Amino acid sequence: MDLPSHIARQQHILAPYAVPATGTLGRSEAEYMDPEDSRLPFERDRGRVMHSTPFRLLDRKTQVFPAGTRDHFRTRLTHTLEVANIARGLARSLSLNEDLAETIALAHDLGHPPFGHVGEGSLNTWMQTYGLQFEHNLQSHRIVSVLVMRTDESAAGLNLNHEVLEGLMKHQQLPHARTLEAQIVDLSDRIAYLAHDTDDGIRSGLITVDQVCATALGKQSLALQGERKTKLRHAIIHTLARDVKRTSHARITAADPQSVADVYDHQPEELVGYSRGMEQKMREYYDFLFQDLYCHPQVTALTHMAEECILSLCNSYIANPPEHVLRIQRRTESTLVEAVKDYVAGMTDDYAKAQYELLKH
Ligand code: MG
Repeated sequence: MDLPSHIARQQHILAPYAVPATGTLGRSEAEYMDPEDSRLPFERDRGRVMHSTPFRLLDRKTQVFPAGTRDHFRTRLTHTLEVANIARGLARSLSLNEDLAETIALAHDLGHPPFGHVGEGSLNTWMQTYGLQFEHNLQSHRIVSVLVMRTDESAAGLNLNHEVLEGLMKHQQLPHARTLEAQIVDLSDRIAYLAHDTDDGIRSGLITVDQVCATALGKQSLALQGERKTKLRHAIIHTLARDVKRTSHARITAADPQSVADVYDHQPEELVGYSRGMEQKMREYYDFLFQDLYCHPQVTALTHMAEECILSLCNSYIANPPEHVLRIQRRTESTLVEAVKDYVAGMTDDYAKAQYELLKH
């Protein structure tokens, strides 16, 4: 199929409020277009993200349980793939741009440092001593727009479409609301981690099925599990995704947006989101996971080592910058603090630990 036919077929499927198949905001730099390449702009972006080095390294970064501790536990990569799958399904059910939603999902956690949220907190603590901050969404944006090398020294970043880049700006101020595709990824992120962290939590023995079923979301999911004969994690995903579909469909029908510009005029979650009842159940459920799983001594045992590791690496590199850091600094024309942060944030759990061991000896 040639590109015009591909575009026409996609446009036929997409709702008027979806980001069009060809996007509207474009890329920062014009690019050569191979006339035989019939991929749509967001399909091309998806390939760039998936073939990038930071994407591959997610495989060895912690989700909740340290990467590599047990074969069955999720890593940042499997989390990312689960988010992408849920996002794609939700986008399709609302006639949104699936390729865009999937690309944002695949890139959303690229900026996660080693050791999960503990690593993020530690890098933030270190940056604050210089009056700066670290936040993984911002770092994901920096990776795809500055740090990844597309071709050679002169081509920094992946030159992604602006809809993808804006989709990664989760807590930052934008001149308009985010696309529905980006909002769908946020919802999918939460669905994915609530389901798979439950699964890993039960597998680890730190939480039990009985505890899960004592919550309102657990009870509802268990009933669905019996009906559908699926695993509990699938039932949780299905319960939440179904609520998003029903709620969003009703809100979109009521607001009747006729273009992406109409979507930009709405506040986030006015058009897509969970029902109020489900929001409450999810809050209760998150509190349960937070207390009984995320704050379990076996999970937080990692905290002290991770903090020590990140802070030691950062302090050592700022005092005595290795060539890798200096290269990042030169290439990105950043401060040394920024380059040290970029280097450490890009490490896998194992690499960070190995470098920390080297420092100690
Ligand atoms: Mg995530």
